[in-house]
Amino acid sequence: MDGNSDILIIGGGMAGLSAAHALAHSGCRIIVLDKGRGPGGRMATRRVGAEGETLRFDHGAQYFTARDPAFREVVAAWEQAGAAARWPAAGKDAWVGTPGMNGCVKALAEGLDVRWGVRADGLRREGALWHVAAGDESFTASTVLVAVPAEQAAVLLFDASPELAALAASVESAPCWAVMATFDSALPLADCFRSDSAPVSWAARNSAKPGRGGGEAWVIHASPARSRQLVDRPKEEAAQAVLADFFAATGIGPVQPAHLDAHRWLYALPQALKGEGARFDPALQIGVAGDWLHSPRVEGAWLSGRALAQAVILAP
Ligand SMILES: Cc1cc2nc3c(=O)[nH]c(=O)nc-3n(C[C@H](O)[C@H](O)[C@H](O)COP(=O)(O)OP(=O)(O)OC[C@H]3O[C@@H](n4cnc5c(N)ncnc54)[C@H](O)[C@@H]3O)c2cc1C
Repeated sequence: MDGNSDILIIGGGMAGLSAAHALAHSGCRIIVLDKGRGPGGRMATRRVGAEGETLRFDHGAQYFTARDPAFREVVAAWEQAGAAARWPAAGKDAWVGTPGMNGCVKALAEGLDVRWGVRADGLRREGALWHVAAGDESFTASTVLVAVPAEQAAVLLFDASPELAALAASVESAPCWAVMATFDSALPLADCFRSDSAPVSWAARNSAKPGRGGGEAWVIHASPARSRQLVDRPKEEAAQAVLADFFAATGIGPVQPAHLDAHRWLYALPQALKGEGARFDPALQIGVAGDWLHSPRVEGAWLSGRALAQAVILAP
């Protein structure tokens, strides 16, 4: 497949695809690379086969809000297309992707040239072109936009743009252990549990989100402090520990799960830089976007991607 484009975007999460979408009508040829097997990034949906049934867990972002007028329009279009729905259990302005959280990312990716399962390893500038190595493949573009978590951007940009790499390196993200559990019968709890002080910061009945259905399925997030404590533990051990925390925090007696798994998000929630939005270097034709440049939320990532696209369009 041809690897030449005008603009190469590394990272096809909400920020990268928002940038790609905003640039799609500029007449430029755009390629997006994402190391994930499919759309989602931190809005991922995990599919699990259990007892002849396919279960879907939103193990990253749980819901999102839409306050910016432009983002509200996009969310309304997703709703029309069946890619998002309101979830009142989480709040009056809460939305989720449908049929899984990654539904919105899938909708954004439609019609774009996204290469899933391709991880960018290094960037090199020769003359007026960027060369991006990605395993056995290589890509060439006049402009490169990097839309990956801050810590990963710092590594990727180290040689290509020390200035942007230093900006990314100034951001620290909190980890999050996400536990996915199913139970044979309904737990005696409301659909959402939140806490600022418990070792469990959030738990939700995933099966109660719009368009999911299926048996009793829960996603439980350990707090940043608890996630740091457990960060190097094997996932089986972390899953048991966070499940025990969940029963203790909610006050219900322990119940044996039918299915139990865990995922460690190393860079779950960044301490975002205030007032940045995005950064573009017109001399080198390289820029960065991501929630870490705006706010650690789905909407922040979308706004950051759009801000980067605007900076590219307006650049001298
Ligand atoms: C556990 C958890 C809970 C959350 N809860 C909420 C919530 O309730 N509400 C809310 O609004 N937000 C929530 N968030 C935050 C929200 O998910 C993020 O702010 C948003 O999805 C970030 O989008 P992004 O595009 O900036 O980054 P990402 O979604 O991380 O996308 C970056 C993409 O880059 C790809 N990538 C990385 N390195 C490379 C490489 N070298 N080459 C190619 N591709 C690469 C990754 O595969 C990924 O798809 C949560 C996040 C987590 C992890």
